[in-house]
Amino acid sequence: MQPDQVEALREAAEEGVEFDGLEAQRDGDGYRLAVPGREWTGLTAAAFDDAAREVPAHVTNWDFWAHAAPTHAARRAFLRWLEGADERDVPARYEALADGVARAWGQLRITVSLGDDGHRRYDLRHEADAGEAVDGLDAFHDPLDAREIVKFDERERYRPLKTAPSLRTGWAFPDLDAAALVEALGFVYPATVENWHREREGELDVSHWRDTAERQTGIYDIVDELEPEAVDRIAATCCVDSQCLKRREWDYDEDHELDAERGEGEFPCREPCSLVVAAARKWTKLEREESRTYEFDLTPSEKEQLEDIVDAVADGRVDEVREADVYEGANRYRARYLREKLFDEEGRLCGVPTEE
Ligand code: SF4
Repeated sequence: MQPDQVEALREAAEEGVEFDGLEAQRDGDGYRLAVPGREWTGLTAAAFDDAAREVPAHVTNWDFWAHAAPTHAARRAFLRWLEGADERDVPARYEALADGVARAWGQLRITVSLGDDGHRRYDLRHEADAGEAVDGLDAFHDPLDAREIVKFDERERYRPLKTAPSLRTGWAFPDLDAAALVEALGFVYPATVENWHREREGELDVSHWRDTAERQTGIYDIVDELEPEAVDRIAATCCVDSQCLKRREWDYDEDHELDAERGEGEFPCREPCSLVVAAARKWTKLEREESRTYEFDLTPSEKEQLEDIVDAVADGRVDEVREADVYEGANRYRARYLREKLFDEEGRLCGVPTEE
């Protein structure tokens, strides 16, 4: 604990302090200091300082939250949630923080620990790197660097959806202060802290599909044509945990819940995102088409292979299918063989024209 932290508390006692179990005031009888289970009254300034030095955890905890932590309500609530401030009193919290308190946030792992002056330090990294020494990772210190880290996935493919579970591994911000941590988080998962906080406060302003679709203009104004069943398919396609870490809170409209799984994410999704709306434009056009009856001659294995290929593409497993594994329907050689056998020179399945 620093001498100026005691001095700052004594000065604040003039106005009165009540925070996380710490109480400090000055009245006609002198200073008063209290923490759960202990109380000093009628203190001179010097005696107040001596008493404060006996409860360093409470003093430095107050100093951190009064002078170092962000004042923004959502960020503050998030930082308190990170260290379990509502679950543990100050001594228990400090005991836990001495070893580091870790929480998951999407694919991130955030570990809070204590600096010498009780001010918190934060380690931010991919959850898969939880046990890695910092020396084995690329270490960053400027929150702005997070913008580059999240741009591409492990295979250098652009990540259009920041909350997709495709965050690359191998990096860490090992020593951020509170403001830098929330800034970095804003680049990794934009607005998630704010929406998480709104939801906790009962103030999440959900915009359901129908409202969002009706607000679209220009090339996207067609998406309000989609029937609820198609919107359900979109949510099942894009918004489940395997595709996005937000927990979907929007539905078709207030009276019409979608059947698709909402996800288990810590942070909510309050409205269909731009990626979903853009994809919905294509689906709107596709849904306009009428079904037709085509006739194809396939062996049972060929039918199953086509199903395997669609599954593998939809689940993003194509790259996992090894060239030697010809028992997999989505194996490249199997697919090439099928194309050789079933497609004509114009690329039509079984030579059947799409249009009559
Ligand atoms: S609309 Fe779906 S995909 Fe987009 S952010 Fe929300 S949950 Fe994720």
